[in-house]
Amino acid sequence: HKVLHNYYMTMNGKLQNGFAMHSGAFVLKTHSPADVAHTLIDSGRQKEPFYVFDMDEAHRRIQHFKSQMPRVQIFYAMKANDSEYMLKLAITSGLGFDCASPGEIYNLRQLNVNAKSIIYAMPSKTAEQMIYARDSGVLHTTFDSSYELKKIKQYWPDARLLVRIRVEGKSVYNLGDKFGCGHDTEAIKLLDEAAALSLKVVGVAFHVGSGCSSIDSHENGLRYAKALFEHEARAGRQMKIVDIGGGFLSDKTDRIDQVANIINKALEEYFPDKSVQVIAEPGRYICDSSYTLYCSINNVRQVIKDKEVVNMIYLNDGLYGTLRYNESWHKVKRYRVSTDEESLEKAILWGPSCDSTDRIMENFTILLPQCTPSDWLVLPIQGAYSFGFATNFSCLPTPRTRIVISTELWYKLKESKVFKASDFVVNPDINEPLPTTIPKVITENITTDVKSPFLLA
Ligand code: PLP
Repeated sequence: HKVLHNYYMTMNGKLQNGFAMHSGAFVLKTHSPADVAHTLIDSGRQKEPFYVFDMDEAHRRIQHFKSQMPRVQIFYAMKANDSEYMLKLAITSGLGFDCASPGEIYNLRQLNVNAKSIIYAMPSKTAEQMIYARDSGVLHTTFDSSYELKKIKQYWPDARLLVRIRVEGKSVYNLGDKFGCGHDTEAIKLLDEAAALSLKVVGVAFHVGSGCSSIDSHENGLRYAKALFEHEARAGRQMKIVDIGGGFLSDKTDRIDQVANIINKALEEYFPDKSVQVIAEPGRYICDSSYTLYCSINNVRQVIKDKEVVNMIYLNDGLYGTLRYNESWHKVKRYRVSTDEESLEKAILWGPSCDSTDRIMENFTILLPQCTPSDWLVLPIQGAYSFGFATNFSCLPTPRTRIVISTELWYKLKESKVFKASDFVVNPDINEPLPTTIPKVITENITTDVKSPFLLA
């Protein structure tokens, strides 16, 4: 256990980094999260890009999801954002968790999450991963293949299984390309095979794809699941969980209401028996809108491309940092307010590395007023699948996060055993810049036996 702990301290570092990077959530009495960012930028003291994490927004999202789909229990997909405060907020909100690796299970167990509140929702696992989940007390996992069943039989025979079926739809990340068996003959064959191996299948899981814009995908999934429940019942076996996955869009606020309406109706039609447990694994919907990136610019260069002026904007975060494909790129703005005379021009956003693939949103035309190196860009809705993807490429840093919370929410959270008093800064100095990521200068001459091969003239 100790070795593993050290491993995660040093190698994985995610949660530990999270701990180290945050100097406590700022409890805001009169200011808004945007005020905090504006004060910081206007002070001129903050030089590096930074995120503002608005805990109230994430909290509102959780409550809204619950109110729209009262029958559906949220198992937060922590891969979307596993920062310490997001996890603690999810825990205090009574959510379960969807994990996809032993590292995620470990991080949750460190925060005292009950292993029975975790589904290991990954249909392809190694023996070692299964053993880790099993020994941690996790009971539930998914499968979509015959080999996986054989591995489960050998290494995790008491697991409670959900068959992962494929549900097609239009989405940003089409997960059906990678996971999910066919919902009829293929699934039935696997269910019968599991029964022949005396494995316990307790439900059906699907994921309509991350950032799913097809309105009827969840309904299709529920209909397929119902047919599989009936198959099992005919065979004298009983399933009791439907897992409707994630895929809920994060940038359009009324979208969840429409999808919830369809899901609620489908649940009434296909699963009127309330003893069937219905769970969902939203990631993006919960965490995306609560993070805004304020990104500084390190340079601007004007070029002519196809007889048109294009502003090449070199940002201080990029593809190897936290910026990926995002549904909300059209919401990117320059921080400095535009004058009436200013028009929008084509811009290419480059990341800070020397790599020419470090270009943000290659196939998307970004229109911005002219920027200078002293400008900032504001990138809203950046909380999902951003930090998790950041690399250490070229020793470039990941932006720091300033966490903010209202006094009202703070009153609710501070009493929980999950947060500590030291997790909050009660009278914050909102002018205070975030700790720099620039490394310490080494001034002393390094005298080693290693001779430098070349010295510059
Ligand atoms: N559940 C599973 C099994 C996933 O693979 C994912 C994302 O890849 C999620 C949930 C979260 O999806 P989203 O962030 O789109 O809600």
